[in-house]
Amino acid sequence: MNAKKLKQELNALLGDEARIRTDAFECELYSTDVGSVPFANRLFETVPHLVVQPQTVDALTKVVRFASTEKVALFPRGAGSSGLGGVVPTKEGIALDLSALNRILALNREQKTIMVQTGTRWSTIETAAQQEGLSLSVYPSSFFSTVGGWIASGGYGIGSFQFGHLKEQIESIEVLFPSGDVRLFTAADKEFPLFFGTEGQFGVLLAATLKVRKTPERQLPQLLYFGGVDAALTFVTELIQSKIRPYHIKYLDAAHLKEVNKLIGEELYAERDAVLVTLEDHAEDLKFRQFAKNRGIAADEYLARYLWHERLFPMKRRSTQPTLLACELIMPLRYVATYMNKARWIAKRSGLDLQAEAHMAGETDALVLLSFLSDVRNPWRYLAHLALVPRLTMLGIKRGGAPYNVGIWNVPFITQKADPQTLRAYRAYKRKVDPCNILNPNKFFAVRTRWGVIPDLLFNPSLFKLLIRGASLFTPLMARSGEDRNHESVLEKTMYSCVKCGSCAAQCPAYAVTQDESLVPKNKLYLAKKLHEGGHVSKREAEKAFLCMHCGLCREVCQNDLDLVAAWEELEQRLEQRFGRPEQAVREFVSIAEDSPAYWRCVHAQEI
Ligand SMILES: Cc1cc2nc3c(=O)[nH]c(=O)nc-3n(C[C@H](O)[C@H](O)[C@H](O)COP(=O)(O)OP(=O)(O)OC[C@H]3O[C@@H](n4cnc5c(N)ncnc54)[C@H](O)[C@@H]3O)c2cc1C
Ligand code: SF4
Ligand code: SF4
Repeated sequence: MNAKKLKQELNALLGDEARIRTDAFECELYSTDVGSVPFANRLFETVPHLVVQPQTVDALTKVVRFASTEKVALFPRGAGSSGLGGVVPTKEGIALDLSALNRILALNREQKTIMVQTGTRWSTIETAAQQEGLSLSVYPSSFFSTVGGWIASGGYGIGSFQFGHLKEQIESIEVLFPSGDVRLFTAADKEFPLFFGTEGQFGVLLAATLKVRKTPERQLPQLLYFGGVDAALTFVTELIQSKIRPYHIKYLDAAHLKEVNKLIGEELYAERDAVLVTLEDHAEDLKFRQFAKNRGIAADEYLARYLWHERLFPMKRRSTQPTLLACELIMPLRYVATYMNKARWIAKRSGLDLQAEAHMAGETDALVLLSFLSDVRNPWRYLAHLALVPRLTMLGIKRGGAPYNVGIWNVPFITQKADPQTLRAYRAYKRKVDPCNILNPNKFFAVRTRWGVIPDLLFNPSLFKLLIRGASLFTPLMARSGEDRNHESVLEKTMYSCVKCGSCAAQCPAYAVTQDESLVPKNKLYLAKKLHEGGHVSKREAEKAFLCMHCGLCREVCQNDLDLVAAWEELEQRLEQRFGRPEQAVREFVSIAEDSPAYWRCVHAQEI
C-alpha cells in the first residue's frame, strides 16, 4: 500500500485519536537513532511511509490491527535513545511513535507500586513518585527515555547492583499483540521474561506496574582512585564479597576523569582509574570507609558527589572530534579488566582515546561501556572507526561477554546474546504471535536488506566477522588527531556534537505544546545540518525552527552541554536570510503556547 492510500485509510480509521505525519522531512526524522551509520539508508528503506502517534490505547490497537490485516510493517519507538537501529525502519511501513501514551495510571503508596503507560519517561515517574515519598529502585542513565523502550531494550542501569535487572522491579506488563489481543502478564507468568530485551519483536508494551521504594534519606557517594583497572576491579570484587551493600558501584577509567577535568576546566580529579560507590545508609557508609582504608585513595567528597550527579550525563565530552561511537556488553566481572586492557591496546594502535566504564549489574556481571570519538564528516576514517565497534564487541564475546542490544547492527552476534534454547523459544514465540512478521522486521533475528541475497550475506555471522577483522586492519592507517574546530561557529559545533539522545525533547515546551518532532532541539540541529550541507530545506520546514520560546530548558538537560540557545539564534539568523522571518507564525505559536497547560507544566516543573 502506498503512503497516500495508507494515510487515507488511517485517517478514516483514527480520526483525531492519533497524529499522522506524512511530510517528507518529519518522516526523515524517524529514520535514525543515536547511532550514525552513513550507509544505513542504502541497505534499508529507513524513512517510514508515515508516522503515527496514537493519543489513546484504542487508536494504537486500531493501528496494530490494521497493520496486521494489511501486512504493513510497524516500527515502535519510545524516545529513540537506543543506538543499534532498534527503532530504525528497515522497509516501507509505519513508525509508531508511542511517546504520547505517557499517563501515570495509578500510584499505590501502601503497596509501593506505580502503574504507567509505557510512553512515560523515567524522569516523569521519579517526579511523581517523589511527591509521595517514593523513588525508583533502578533507572537508566538515559533518564528521559521511556519505560517501554527500556523494558524492550535494556534493563541494567543505576541501582542495578542492589536491585538487579529491571525485570525484578516490575510486577506486571500489559502487551498488545499484532492480532489486536491485549494480555496482562505478571512476573509469575512463564511468558513474562520474553518481553525483556527482545526489542519489540512480540508485541507493543502498553503498560507496566513498577515496584518503587521509600525514598532513601540520603545518598552517600564515595570515589576511590587506584593504580590501574586490575587494582580497581579487584577492589570491586572484594567489596562484593564483603557484607557491605552499596546501592550502586561504577568503575571509571583515567580517560573518563581526564574528560571530566576538561569539561569543568580544572584539574580537580586525579587522572587515574577509579571506583564510584554510592551508599544509602550511614552505618553501611562507615563500614565501607573502614573497608576502603588502605585499599584505594579516597577523593574529596564533593568530587564524588559531582560524579554521582553526572550519572545522568554519560555522554558529555569536550573534544575536537564530534561523533561518539560506543560498544556495550554485559560481561562476567572477572573478565572485565583483561578485556579493557586489550580493548585499550587496540584503540591506541588506531590512534583513538578509549573511555571505559562499567556498572555492576548484580554480584557477578558488569555492564561495560567503551566509547571513543570520531568525525562522521570524514567518511573513510569514520568507516574505519565504525568497524572498530563490532571489533570490540567480538573481542568482548571472546572474553565471555554478550552484546547488550541487537537492533540491526548486532544481528550477527544474536547467538551470543541468547543461548540456542532461548533463541529457539524466541523464534517459536515470534511465529506464534507475529506470523506475518510485522513488528520490527529485518532485525534481531535476521536481516533482509532492500537488495536481496548478496548484501544480506554481509550479516552472515562468519562473513561479518571476517569483514570486520579485515576492515579494522585499516583503522590504524586512519590514525590522525582530530581537525581543529576552533573556526566553527556555535551552530556548526553544536549540530555535529549532538549525540541525538533526545533528553531535550522531554523538557522542551515547544514540543510539549505541539508534539511535533520537528520542534525537538535535536531535530532542529538535524535541519541545521541539512541547511549547512546544502540539502533541500523548504520554507515550511524553516518556519518551524522559529517556533521556540528561547527558554533555555533544552540546554539545562543537554547530554553534551551544548550551547543550544546561542545555536538557535544563529540558526534563525541563517534561515531569516534565506526565507525571511515568519512573524505571524511565531505570534500564533506563542499565543497557543501561553494558553496551553502543557507549556505551563514545563515552566512549573522547572520552578520546582
Ligand atoms: C545518554 C544515554 C544513556 C543511556 N543509559 C542507559 C542505561 O543506563 N542502561 C541501558 O540499558 N541503556 C541505556 N541507554 C540506551 C537506551 O537509552 C535505553 O535502552 C533506553 O531505555 C531506550 O528507551 P527509549 O524510550 O529511547 O527506546 P527506543 O530507543 O525508542 O526503543 C528501543 C527499542 O524498544 C522498542 N520499543 C520502544 N517502545 C516500545 C514499546 N512500548 N513496546 C514494544 N517495543 C518498544 C523499539 O522498537 C526499539 O527496538 C542509554 C542511552 C543514552 C543515549
Ligand atoms: S529554547 Fe526552549 S522552546 Fe526552544 S528548543 Fe530549547 S527548550 Fe525548546
Ligand atoms: S541537543 Fe543535547 S540533549 Fe538534545 S539530543 Fe542533542 S545532545 Fe541530546
